[in-house]
Amino acid sequence: MGEFDLIAKYFTRPVKRAALGVGDDCALLATAPGMQLAVSSDMLVEGRHFLSTVEPARLGHKALAVNLSDLAACGAMPLAFTLALSMPTADEAWLAGFSRGLLALADEHGCELIGGDTTRGPLNICITVFGEVPAGAALLRSGARAGDDIWVSGTLGDARLALEAFRGTLSLPAPMLKHARLRMEQPTPRVALGLALRGVATAAIDVSDGLLGDLVHILLASRVGARIDADAATDLVAARRMPSHAESGLALETLRTCALSGGDDYELAFTARPDARDAVEQAGRASHTAVTRIGTVEPTPGIRVVDAHGAPLAQRFAGFDHFG
Ligand code: ADP
Ligand code: MG
Repeated sequence: MGEFDLIAKYFTRPVKRAALGVGDDCALLATAPGMQLAVSSDMLVEGRHFLSTVEPARLGHKALAVNLSDLAACGAMPLAFTLALSMPTADEAWLAGFSRGLLALADEHGCELIGGDTTRGPLNICITVFGEVPAGAALLRSGARAGDDIWVSGTLGDARLALEAFRGTLSLPAPMLKHARLRMEQPTPRVALGLALRGVATAAIDVSDGLLGDLVHILLASRVGARIDADAATDLVAARRMPSHAESGLALETLRTCALSGGDDYELAFTARPDARDAVEQAGRASHTAVTRIGTVEPTPGIRVVDAHGAPLAQRFAGFDHFG
């Protein structure tokens, strides 16, 4: 199957929102007056971001999910995306699964595939998403102030548990592995929460490299520090609440590390003023997303990790850095 046939078969669909989609030299995207375009790219490389054994449909889902997660962290509404794909062969079974998973998530968010590039090479998937946000309303990393609460959405650390299980550094009971694997392979971008947090959160980021490592970006951009309740964060490891947890023998230290520096969570970490607690809870309810308070922004730079009683914990919880 040739390049143009495969684009036509797997990646071409009639556009609804965009003025022009796949098939010309450029796609055309209309923007509404008073809105800003939010743009973000994320690349997934085989062996680095995903295992070669992952089911293609899940990979398609994840490739778009990690990009939608960036729009969520800005409080932007998804509009469209492009797909630059390099792959060793035009494997139709792979393409069918990949495009199915990709386009199902795209449909769920009304985000259209409007163009891309296809070439032969190592398996590599680069998506660029376009979203819109009212001018000046985007959630930035730089807005946190001392005294703000620190919140996180959903659950933490489960994707890392799955990764460690695949690496063989720990073993998980079957139901736990199944759940953790789903979190790793099919993350849920918190788009609705991001939209609901516009005008409520003071700063936001999506957690891709680990909670503390990503939080540092907010703290540096905002020139503040933080105190983080490690126990509150560790309670958010979903595996911990599964019936099979008792037999898993997972150490508290392992769960803490997964929660605080796991990576691949695609949750939102955000700050909000204490007088906005009701508004944050309301945003969580409106978007059907759990939100949990896990810390406080402080004037002194750095992160102080404490347990539920406020006792300081040693800091061995670095984020992931591709060149670190
Ligand atoms: P160009 O000559 O401009 O590089 P191509 O021949 O690479 O264009 O692609 C033809 C059309 O197909 C373009 O509209 C391009 O955006 C689209 N396209 C190419 N690859 C993909 C893909 N993987 N997914 C969606 N659209 C694609
Ligand atoms: Mg091209």
